[in-house]
Amino acid sequence: MKYLVIPALLLALVFLQSRIGPLTELPAPPEAASVHVPPAASPNQHYPSNRAPLAVSPLVKLPIGAVEPRGWLMAQLQLMRDGFTGRLSELSRFLGDDSGWMTLKGTGWEEMPYWLKGYGDLGYLLKDVGLRKETERWLLQAFKSQGRDGYFGPPDNRAANDLWPNMVMLAALQSFYEATGDRRVLSLMSRFFQFEFHLPAEELLPGSWQKLRGGENLESVYWLYNRTGESFLLDLARRLFTRTSDWTSPILTPGRDKDWVESGFYHGVNIAMGFREPAVYYQHARDPELLKAVERNYRLVMDRYGRQPGGMFGADENIRPGKDDPRQGAETCTMVEFMASFESLLKITGVTAWADRAEEVAFNALPASMTPDLKGLHYLTAANLVSCDSTGEHDFQNTGTLVSYDPWSYRCCQHNVAFGWPYFAEHLWMATADNGLAATLYAPSEVRAKVAEGAEVSVSEETSYPFEDQIRLSLSCDRPVSFPLYLRLPGWAKTVQIVLNGQRVEGPFTGGRYAVLRRTWHHGDQVRIEFDPEIEVVDWPAMRGAVSVRRGPLWYALRIGEKWQKYGGTEAWPAYEVLPTTPWNYGLVSGREGTRPSVRIASCAAPPYQPFTPEAAPIVLKVLARLVPGWKEEGRMVGPVPASPAEGAGTPEEVELIPMGCARLRISVFPLVKD
Ligand SMILES: [Zn+2]
Repeated sequence: MKYLVIPALLLALVFLQSRIGPLTELPAPPEAASVHVPPAASPNQHYPSNRAPLAVSPLVKLPIGAVEPRGWLMAQLQLMRDGFTGRLSELSRFLGDDSGWMTLKGTGWEEMPYWLKGYGDLGYLLKDVGLRKETERWLLQAFKSQGRDGYFGPPDNRAANDLWPNMVMLAALQSFYEATGDRRVLSLMSRFFQFEFHLPAEELLPGSWQKLRGGENLESVYWLYNRTGESFLLDLARRLFTRTSDWTSPILTPGRDKDWVESGFYHGVNIAMGFREPAVYYQHARDPELLKAVERNYRLVMDRYGRQPGGMFGADENIRPGKDDPRQGAETCTMVEFMASFESLLKITGVTAWADRAEEVAFNALPASMTPDLKGLHYLTAANLVSCDSTGEHDFQNTGTLVSYDPWSYRCCQHNVAFGWPYFAEHLWMATADNGLAATLYAPSEVRAKVAEGAEVSVSEETSYPFEDQIRLSLSCDRPVSFPLYLRLPGWAKTVQIVLNGQRVEGPFTGGRYAVLRRTWHHGDQVRIEFDPEIEVVDWPAMRGAVSVRRGPLWYALRIGEKWQKYGGTEAWPAYEVLPTTPWNYGLVSGREGTRPSVRIASCAAPPYQPFTPEAAPIVLKVLARLVPGWKEEGRMVGPVPASPAEGAGTPEEVELIPMGCARLRISVFPLVKD
């Protein structure tokens, strides 16, 4: 029998060959697999990675310029350049030539470095000569200011033993080095860290913000160690970890609320930055308990104060026990710092959940913190917010105007928001430890990077994601090159299809992992990723039975008519209140038999230049709703979400839901009502 089979097989092969050409030209079937985290056996050979004894990180940040944003993301950067980030020196009293960072006399605190950290990266990403020159003007003063003992910056901070503004400035310097290779950065940082190393313990991070945010300093120490290998940096890292506030213990301990507020552990921005610090030190100590502490504290905060769409938690300055309704706001600084923490944790751990969390804030909360032209912002953005007025008649911890859009106010956020979109863009793609490439966050872009033994490839990513369910990748290379391409599969994705050069790739592609295409790539290879997100009605059981609507990476909010009313500022830089012109107090209809609200897609369109406006909302959903007359404003603030089922009135009507990032006024946490 076997003698018959072999000639038959040969015949079949000859026939096949005659139909499709020589066998050698047959494309190799893609090796399709999925992994929880890219392997981290040895460091990436092409980009500065963790140097021994630090743990190899599965993902490595590519230098600035390797990732070029396109489409709607490029639009955000261009709007930033023409809006208040690019022109902040016209508005901010902290960016004049009398700043201590320029005169090198007196004081100059966090504001200028906050701004420069994002402004510089914006200039590198946009290849904008003007922005780059202005960045260098400020950095030059930092180089000039460095004394013999290694301290740099305005002298008053030093006199006060406050190294917090320096930590922010280090980030701006690191970006400058990535973009230019200017070795003055390495020298300045090494000498500054020597200065820190020789400080008596009680003078190193003695208290306040710098103590809570010492993880930022620690991350910069490892950044330099990976480039210079100076051994004292590891000793300094141990000291910094010891001197930084303890983020390994569970925060939000009941009964100790007052202590936690006073120590700064309940401050929104401190949490957003500080909670990742144990994971930064994990790279050095390699104790898995440190990673567990980070996830535990994230969950402690989000489970109690983050019962809302958009990826943020209510901390309208501090977390306030009892104030956990989605009407409590999140500060714009908290958003960009939370995103930066997620991006860093993604790099350290490779865990896709951190990418999901970065996208959630970027697509849902961050856009609404600014006016669509990026010429104004507000301090607090809430998941339920029905009046962006300037009256201050809201139950927030701070008084005064906090939700109106104003380019002149909101001192910290006004400067710090600058790095939100640039950092996000820089982390869309990362190198992997095994000399491959990973698509880590999704947005239209092009990446150019070294893979395998050093071959340069580029991948263009064509998509309107998050406003589209499909991502199309096209590969360019000079010659065939073998390397693994990792594609992040978001946690919300139940089914994912991957198509390679028109052929569907079979594999276990479920959310929360990476698909790995390990093959020899040719110029012109095409990969298509197709998500098939379902519309989900998400329950918040602890929020008195309230619900929210999500589809894939986007959360949805009731479309509320917006009246923009100028109340201050100047002709060129106006300040606006945004007031509602249509009812907002709706509950979503669930059937008497307990059926769920039925949501459908009303329209989908290609996003325009700036998709984050109600008019431009690229995806619109419809759902049956009824007015809830008992749900009213308290002062100018939306009342807490009523318990479900709420008392509805009138006949059910279909209302529109738009992506919450498109809405400056929104209800995104709804009560249920009976039909
Ligand atoms: Zn702020």
